[in-house]
Amino acid sequence: MKLDTRAIRYLTAEDWRVLVAVEMGSKNHEVVPTPLIAQISGLRGGSGVHKSISNLAKVNLIGKVKNAKYDGYRLTYGGLDYLALNTHRKSSAIYSVGNQIGVGKESDIYVVASNSGVQRVLKIHRLGRISFRSVKANRDYLRNRSSGSWMYMSRLAALKEYAFMKALKDNDFPVPEPVAQSRHTVVMSLIDAFPLRQISEVPDPAGLYAELLAMIMRLARYGLIHGDFNEFNILVKEEAATEAPADTSATSQADAGTADASKESSISAEETSTTDAPQRQINLVPILIDFPQMVSIDHPNAAYYFDRDVACVKRFFERRFHFTSDEPGPFFSDAIKDVGKDGARRLDVEVEASGFSRKMAKELESYMKEVGIDGDGAVADGEGSDDEEEQVSHDAINDGSDRTEDDAREDGTIDAQKPPSAADDDLVS
Ligand code: ADP
Ligand code: MG
Repeated sequence: MKLDTRAIRYLTAEDWRVLVAVEMGSKNHEVVPTPLIAQISGLRGGSGVHKSISNLAKVNLIGKVKNAKYDGYRLTYGGLDYLALNTHRKSSAIYSVGNQIGVGKESDIYVVASNSGVQRVLKIHRLGRISFRSVKANRDYLRNRSSGSWMYMSRLAALKEYAFMKALKDNDFPVPEPVAQSRHTVVMSLIDAFPLRQISEVPDPAGLYAELLAMIMRLARYGLIHGDFNEFNILVKEEAATEAPADTSATSQADAGTADASKESSISAEETSTTDAPQRQINLVPILIDFPQMVSIDHPNAAYYFDRDVACVKRFFERRFHFTSDEPGPFFSDAIKDVGKDGARRLDVEVEASGFSRKMAKELESYMKEVGIDGDGAVADGEGSDDEEEQVSHDAINDGSDRTEDDAREDGTIDAQKPPSAADDDLVS
């Protein structure tokens, strides 16, 4: 669903009040009765409210629903988008909305600009956007939930993403800077980099590999497993380093080291030029994104998620860079021994205390499971060996290749990746 901001500047103050009223009414009513909208908006009845209702319906921010018992309105995704944007606008997190740079199955990603012209990313969570088959299979579940479950679940996903991004950033993990969160949206800093998925070659695969596994181990020390650690969710930033003499190419990074490797894998760019110009040193810095699937290391299926994260990195490096580590692991049993080591704080516990409660985590997790959301990683796996097909060079634009998720889901490849069901009844995070 596209974010269409054209109508936003034409809404009157009364229109906004009515839109907020529909949102508030949605908490207890699947279809908000018209008299209730009037009442909550505090606008004196009569033509004012009705004019606003018809304005909002015309631009699809609310939709009319004829119920068996009564007529009323429902907030649309468009309406929720506007409410969130308006909040970000008021807090100066967003001034203008630019291009869409990513389309996931459960999110839309836009480049936005702040009042001072700084570019940022707006991630809009859209958990209701699921395949027809999933909707059908889970209709009863969805029906039994409180009204507007897509809205609530998308909001939980945004809350969770913001809470973890903040905790990680505060502890110096390489993640975007969280800026703001409202409803189903998160504003964060823009990372000027491409997903690993789109990178066809790196000069030192062993170094990058070691660094990614070190990141998985470091997350574990802080009580966390990313749960979707894969080539879609790792952005690889190129940072120019100081010029170095030609013969100091640091190609001997540790193999599959599980130790906390150096923060950046320093590599020297492989210039095809045959001139003897000084070699340009660049650092490849992996930045981790996409946190709605993060789990605690105490989660009943923690070992499964940990192993899957590790396997995703291994498989990708084998396929894409033909790199296989000599060392097995890292293993969950090693990771769990290190929890809390070297003064690492338990971020799983801190996040739970900071507003994204255990109850919310559980609700979001069961919803994601019900509708078959299982991360980009599961999908990447389902695509088969497509090595050649999606490789692009460094200067390609992000073409939203996450899109292939839909296909994978259609042919059921995602279900094959479901976690073991033994602990299904009592999932905590
Ligand atoms: P999804 O949950 O849909 O997978 P992601 O958070 O992984 O959403 O984002 C999808 C894509 O959008 C990423 O693969 C990346 O290309 C781009 N993206 C997301 N966040 C950022 C960011 N902060 N900076 C730059 N690009 C980003
Ligand atoms: Mg992703």
